[in-house]
Amino acid sequence: MMRHMLSSTVTFIMLGAAAAWAQTPRLVCDAAPQFRFQFGGVVGERIAVNTSGWLTRAPAADPGLLAMFELRDRQPAPDLVPWAGEFVGKYLMSAIQATRLDNDPKLQSTVKAVIQDLLQNQAEDGYLGPFPQSERLLKHWDLWGHYHVLLALLMWHEQTGDAAALAGCRRAADLVCRTYLDTERRPRDAGSTEMNLAIIHALGRLYRTTHEDRYLQMMRVIEQDWELEGDYFRTGLAGIEFYRTPKPRWESLPDLQGLLELFLITGDERYRVAFLHHWDSIRRLDRRNTGGFSSGEQATGTPYEPTAIETCCTIAWMALTVDALRATGNPLAADELELSTFNGMLGAQHPSGSWWTYNTPMNGVREASHHTIVFQSRAGTPDLNCCSVNAPRGLGMLVDWAVMRTGDGLAVNYYGPLEARVQLADGTPVTLRQETRYPLDGKVKLQVQLSEPREFTLQLRIPSWSTRTVVRRLWAAAEPGAAAEPGTYLTMPRRWHNGDAVELEFDMSFRCEPGGGEMTGRMSVYRGPLLLAYDVLLNDQAPPEPAPLRPADLQQARVSLPSPAADQVRIGRFLPWVLVDVPRADGPAVRLCDFASAGARGSHYISWLPADQIGPPPPLPEYPDNNASVPPGRLLFRARRSTAALGAHRIRVQIAGTPDMREPLLDVPFDEARSMVIPSDQAQRLAPQVAYYWRLVAENQWGTTTSPAAIRQFTIDPALPPLTDDLLTEYGQRADGVVIQADLRGKPDPEYGALQAATGWKSAAGPHGESDQAVELNGTDGMLIYQLRAFPEAEYTVAVRFSAQRVEGALGQVLSAWCRGMDDPLRIAVYQQKLYARIEAGNSYSTRGVPVAQDVWYDVCVVKQSGELTLYVNGQPVETLTVPAVIQSGARDVALGGNPHFTGTSEHLPCRVADFTLAARPWSPEEVAAWHAGHGRPGLSD
Ligand SMILES: [Zn+2]
Repeated sequence: MMRHMLSSTVTFIMLGAAAAWAQTPRLVCDAAPQFRFQFGGVVGERIAVNTSGWLTRAPAADPGLLAMFELRDRQPAPDLVPWAGEFVGKYLMSAIQATRLDNDPKLQSTVKAVIQDLLQNQAEDGYLGPFPQSERLLKHWDLWGHYHVLLALLMWHEQTGDAAALAGCRRAADLVCRTYLDTERRPRDAGSTEMNLAIIHALGRLYRTTHEDRYLQMMRVIEQDWELEGDYFRTGLAGIEFYRTPKPRWESLPDLQGLLELFLITGDERYRVAFLHHWDSIRRLDRRNTGGFSSGEQATGTPYEPTAIETCCTIAWMALTVDALRATGNPLAADELELSTFNGMLGAQHPSGSWWTYNTPMNGVREASHHTIVFQSRAGTPDLNCCSVNAPRGLGMLVDWAVMRTGDGLAVNYYGPLEARVQLADGTPVTLRQETRYPLDGKVKLQVQLSEPREFTLQLRIPSWSTRTVVRRLWAAAEPGAAAEPGTYLTMPRRWHNGDAVELEFDMSFRCEPGGGEMTGRMSVYRGPLLLAYDVLLNDQAPPEPAPLRPADLQQARVSLPSPAADQVRIGRFLPWVLVDVPRADGPAVRLCDFASAGARGSHYISWLPADQIGPPPPLPEYPDNNASVPPGRLLFRARRSTAALGAHRIRVQIAGTPDMREPLLDVPFDEARSMVIPSDQAQRLAPQVAYYWRLVAENQWGTTTSPAAIRQFTIDPALPPLTDDLLTEYGQRADGVVIQADLRGKPDPEYGALQAATGWKSAAGPHGESDQAVELNGTDGMLIYQLRAFPEAEYTVAVRFSAQRVEGALGQVLSAWCRGMDDPLRIAVYQQKLYARIEAGNSYSTRGVPVAQDVWYDVCVVKQSGELTLYVNGQPVETLTVPAVIQSGARDVALGGNPHFTGTSEHLPCRVADFTLAARPWSPEEVAAWHAGHGRPGLSD
C-alpha cells in the first residue's frame, strides 16, 4: 500500500520508569559496559570488515598515531593540524566499543597495546597531547584533543576495570584544572571555543565516576565561558533553534552533551530542557534524508542544501541522539539512530571496510576521506584524518543503543540478526536472539534465553514508520497476532521462560517524502528503515538522473534481494542489499538500491529522485519560536521559506492543548501562503497563559504532509502589546519592499527603518560637492548600524553610494551584515584597490574585484534573486554569481563603514556614504539604472 510519509506527532509513550526524574536526576535507560553483541547480516559484515580493514590495521599503518606524542618536544617542531591530538582518542573510542561487537583476539590485543602506549607517553604533569611543553592546553584544539582522550580512557576503564586508565584520565583532567582553575586564564582563551569547551562533557562523565569536586568546578567555569561563545544553555531554554545559536558548527554537539551531564549532576531540570530543545531542533530542521547531519560542517536550518554532509557530524549527531534516548526513553530517538545507522553512517563506510568518507552526499559520489581531506595526512599518518578515525564509532555506538536496560527490564531498539548477551539491573544474564533478515524484510523472531524463569518487562521498539505492525506472542498457542502502535514501545511485563519468543512483522511498504528547498520537485523513497537511491551503474544506458517517478509507480515495484551466486557477475562486486525495480508506463524501468550500497564502485547516485504528482514538502514552522509568549488578538504563524507552501494548495494551522494534537482547538485553512494570521475572533477561543501546541499541515491534490513532530508551544500573554501591521511582514518592509532607506543627507537617521548605533561620523559633501549630502565615517570606529528583523533570505537589493578615502591595503567594509564566522549574507568590501560583493554562508562566494580609486564616488547595487547575485557598479552589471537560493543568516543588523560584530582585525573603511537602501525584493536592471541616473531613491523607474 502506498502512502506519503507523514511525520507522526510526538507520542510521548516512554519507557517504563520515565516518571522518576522529578526526584533523582537519572537516565531513563542505558546500556551497561558488560553487554556483548554478535551481529549478523549486513551490519555483521560491515563490522567484520571494519575490524580487519581499519581497526586492527590503523595503528601499524599509521604509527604516527602514537609517535606524535613521543615527538612533541623534539626538533624540528612537528607540523600538526590543530586537532591532531584527537586522532588517538577517536580511534580508541570506536575500537574499545568494537571489542564488544567482535571477539577477534587481534582486535583485543591491538586496543590494549594502544592504551598502554598512550599512557606511557603521558607527560609528568599529566599532559596527553602532541604539542610542545610551552603550549600545553593553551591553544590549538588541545582541550578538544584531550576531550577525546579522556572519554576513551574512561570508556576503557568502565569496560575493563583498568585502574591505570582511570588514573591517567584523572592526571590529564587535573592538569586541565591546574591550568584553568589555579590561574587567571579562562578556557575560552584557548580559542576555537566550541571545540575546546567541549571538554565539559568528558569532565561531567569523569565527575560522575570520581565525585572529584575540582572537575565540577571546572565545568562551572566552562559554563560561564559558554555565555560568551556558543550560549547553549540560555538559547536552549529560550527555544532558539540550534542553527541560529552563535556556534552552530558540529563541534558544539559534545558541548550540548555537557548540558545533560549538568542535569545528571545537579538535578536542575532546566539543563535537560535546553539539551532536548537543541537535539530536537537539529532533528526537525537539519537532519538529512540519510539520517546524516550537517550542511558544510554545521547546522543551517534546512536539510535540503546540496552541501557536504561530514561523517564526523553524523557521528556527533548519533552520539547526541544516544544521549537523547537515554534521557527520555523516547522511541523516536531510537528511530533516528536506526535511520542514521542503515543509511548515512553505513553509506560513509566503503563496503570493503578499507575507507570511510568525509562527505556522504544525498546526491553525488563517495570519495575516501583520505583523498577529500588529504591535507590532514602527515608523514607516519597517511590514513589519519578527523573522519577516518571517528567514523567507525558509528558502528561502535551499537553497544550503546541496540539493547538498553530500563528500570525493570530491557528495551530492544535494534532489529537485525543479533545475539545480545545482556544483564538485568540485578546482574541476571539474559540472551536476546533475533532470527531475521531485517532490514531486508520486515519479519523478526526474537527469542529470550535465560537459565531460570524471571519476571521483567521487555519493551520492543515499534518504528514510527511502521504503520501496521503485527505482533505474535509465540508462547500463546495459535495467537492470531495483534497490532502495535507506531512510534511507541510495545511493553511486555511477564514471567519470562527460556525459549519464549515474539514474532514481529513490520510494515515494509514504500514511503515517499517530498523535498523542499533545493530538493523541490524531488522525493526520497524509503522501504522500512532503508533509504533507496538511483545508481547509474545499476541502470543500463541510463542518464545521470531518471525521468520523474510518481509515487503511484511504486505500487508496481518489484523488490529483490541480490544473491552472490546469481548476481555477482552481472552486478559486480559490492552487491546492493536490496534492489527495487520500478516499472514506468512511459519509459524504461528504474532500478533503485539501498543508499548504503549506492555508489560503492565510484558511480554517481541520487537519493532525491526527480518526482511528479507528489504531495507538498512537510512545512517547517518558523514563527513564533518554541515556548514563545505572543500578544493577545490576532495570531501570526509563519512557515520556513524552504518548505513554505511549495506545491501546496492549502496550508492549515492547527492548535491543540496537548502535544499529541489529537483534538485541535483551532484548525484554520489558508490558501498557499507563508505567513498566516488567525483573526482575533477565532483566536479568542484560546485562553491566556495556557500552553498551546501548534503545527502546520500542507495539502495539495496528491497528498497531505504535516510539520515534523515536536510540536511547538506558545502562550498568549495579555500584557504584551498587540501585533502591529509591520510585524505581519517578514522583514518589516514597506509595500515597495524597502526594509531600510537612509538617504544620509548629513545625518544617519533613516527615512524608513531603525538606526541602532552611529559612531565616528560627521556630515559631509555629497557626490556633486554640495555640503550635508553624505555622511563621512572615520575608518577607526566609524559605523552606522541599522536594525533588521532578519536579513532577507532569498531576494534582496542593496544600493549605496560611496567614496573611499583609502582603497589600498587591508580589507575595509563599505557594508557588512557579518554576525559570526561564515555568516555574512552580504558584504561590499574594498581590498587592495578593488571592490567586491561577497556572501559568507557556510562557504564563501565572491565576485571578482572591480578596480576602484580613492576619493571617487561609485554607485553600487547588489541584487540577489534566488540563486543569483549580481553586482552593479554605476548602473552597469559587472558580474553575476551563483549563490545559495536561500541564505539562513543569523544577522540582525547591517553596518555601513565597518563590520558590525567582528572583534578581530579592524575592517573599518574611511569613506563617505549616501543614498543607502536595503529592500526585500530584487530590483530590475531598469530600476538599478534609474537609481544610478540620479533619483537616489529606491524603486523609482520613471
Ligand atoms: Zn571529520
